[in-house]
Amino acid sequence: MNRELYDKLIFEYSKPGRQGFSLPRRDCKDVLGSIPAGLRRSNAVNLPEVDEPTVVRHYTNQSTNNFGVDTGFYPLGSCTMKYNPKINEALAADSTIAALHPTQPADTVQGALELYWRLQKALCTIGGMAEFTLNPFAGAHGELTGLMVIRAYHASRDDRGRQVVIVPDSAHGTNPASAAVAGLQVRQVKSMPDGTVDLNDLRDKLDDSVAAVMLTNPNTIGMFERNIPQIAEMVHAAGALLYYDGANLNPLLGVARPGDMGFDVMHINLHKTFSTPHGGGGPGAGPVGVREGLEQFLPNPRVVLDAEGNFRTECTDSALGRVSGWLGNYTVLVKALAYILTLGKEHIKMVGPLATLNANYIMHSLRDLYLLPVEGPCKHEFVFDGLIDKSQGITTLNVAKRLLDYGFHAPTIYFPLLFHESLMIEPTETESLETLDRFIEVMRSIALEAKESPDMLKNAPFNTPVRHPDDTEAALHPKVTYDEL
Ligand SMILES: *Cc1c(COP(=O)(O)O)cnc(C)c1O
Repeated sequence: MNRELYDKLIFEYSKPGRQGFSLPRRDCKDVLGSIPAGLRRSNAVNLPEVDEPTVVRHYTNQSTNNFGVDTGFYPLGSCTMKYNPKINEALAADSTIAALHPTQPADTVQGALELYWRLQKALCTIGGMAEFTLNPFAGAHGELTGLMVIRAYHASRDDRGRQVVIVPDSAHGTNPASAAVAGLQVRQVKSMPDGTVDLNDLRDKLDDSVAAVMLTNPNTIGMFERNIPQIAEMVHAAGALLYYDGANLNPLLGVARPGDMGFDVMHINLHKTFSTPHGGGGPGAGPVGVREGLEQFLPNPRVVLDAEGNFRTECTDSALGRVSGWLGNYTVLVKALAYILTLGKEHIKMVGPLATLNANYIMHSLRDLYLLPVEGPCKHEFVFDGLIDKSQGITTLNVAKRLLDYGFHAPTIYFPLLFHESLMIEPTETESLETLDRFIEVMRSIALEAKESPDMLKNAPFNTPVRHPDDTEAALHPKVTYDEL
């Protein structure tokens, strides 16, 4: 097929007078007369005039210009881009769910409320927490909600001087951002060379101004933080609470529970660990869990099962108030529960170990060519610091762009900031051995290309619909409408 024929902008196919539809003759009189003069258009709207096949081919071809987890492997570290099973989509799109209205009386939506309640319970079991709210819309929104819970807890004890949140220097950027949005100050704690928290530095920074310490475990470079019990003791002795950033709960799924490690508050990204799609900014869900004694601070409304066996929503005065309009992104919740129930108790236990095995398999198969800055078994992800042989000037960006030519999405690059040439790989548990082997083979041949044809590599990609955009120009002077081109 001649793709180029359909690779223009839809406006470029426009021919005056051409139509892709035919409507019956208008038989209602004087429609225009009923619109106040000030609200009528004076010029015709500028729309492309095109026939139906052109529209269909244009958009169908556009849809194949994108990369997604349905078109190929997506080893994006810190993001858990696992495959999204189609049964989740089918259930969420079912009219009995998709057509619900948030203000329907509780007795007409008992099933929908039960679904929410069951997911709350499932996440409590998985996280080792006493109670969950599913209302926050994203991970960062969950962090903000969790920090507001922590603030409400300190305020309830009249302990109002606690205005500081401690975050490791390797933390995801949303951690300090959420703390700032919650009106708290950020204090950084140093990482050891292996990415784990420097306990001496933490001890120095803990005092009675600290409201919370936020941690990710396994941390951002995929290493398991072994000192959590000790950290929890230190944090609690200082009167602060310990927050778990569980955006990437994948490696722990079925293996260990943040609640058992001593964490007080946590969030989970359903749009990572629990297989609901993400990318491009939404929609997601960032449920927040709390240990016993903090339940009363979770946001309104909550879904409860009353003594008569009915589900209903409840608002209480001790709660935070609302963090979202109703009960969060409901269809995302449906997909997550579908995922949990299709795996079941038995198979959910395989997620963490398989994700860990896959990451270690790739790490060991490439470490003779790519620089591994931190030794030791990783969990769900790991970081290379670029190629070992940097003599040809091939950067992580070049490697990432070249991967696109081979049909793989790029890993996360230049994050975490702990290394100059970070290349962060997370295969997840959903990939077959054949896919992992093909990815390893391609990564190895790129390392070979770096030696033999570095100039070619610097100009990659060659096979993608858009080749090498000028990122800086695009950010500084974006052209967002046809008229600007
Ligand atoms: C993705 C991620 C977040 C933020 O989640 P969003 O849904 O993008 O707001 C926070 N922390 C970690 C470790 C993450 O990977």
